[in-house]
Amino acid sequence: MKLKIAGTVKESVVDGPGIRFVIFTQGCPHNCVGCHNPKTHDPAQGTVTTTEALLAEIANAKLIRGITFSGGEPFLQPEPLTIIAEQTKAFNLNIVTYSGYTFEKLLVMAASDKAVERLLKHTDLLVDGPYLEAERDISLAFRGSRNQRLVDVKKSLVSGHAVLWSPTETDNGI
Ligand code: SF4
Repeated sequence: MKLKIAGTVKESVVDGPGIRFVIFTQGCPHNCVGCHNPKTHDPAQGTVTTTEALLAEIANAKLIRGITFSGGEPFLQPEPLTIIAEQTKAFNLNIVTYSGYTFEKLLVMAASDKAVERLLKHTDLLVDGPYLEAERDISLAFRGSRNQRLVDVKKSLVSGHAVLWSPTETDNGI
């Protein structure tokens, strides 16, 4: 399946726990002031690739512990990302997804959009919410502003509200 990306990073250590293959999707509606990645906003820009091509790259990335979907806004392209998530789970890789939407907003979207629901369910760790310049904090792990949360999606879907990710526990668990 085709998808539009801004690029990939084969071995990142800043986009979630451990060494990760990162897919930066193209297109973002949030327009956060101070966004670190403005080139990803325009859905007409970027590069068209396929899930098959990305999965071949991931299969060759032997050191990685997981996949990160970043952006741009990954939930604009939930179908191809879900295919990648499903296939990479077979390699025992975990999934981190960044979104400018909050977990609560994604739950509402998922209620009427099966593709959003599937991508959310395949995500282990969600970094949620827009980047807010006034909340900027460079000491935070994996995110840029204090309003953004690290959400343990599996636990959150069971409990029906956002359960924050515990680094020690999830380090072993995802
Ligand atoms: S959600 Fe992310 S990519 Fe989109 S504008 Fe905000 S910081 Fe930039």
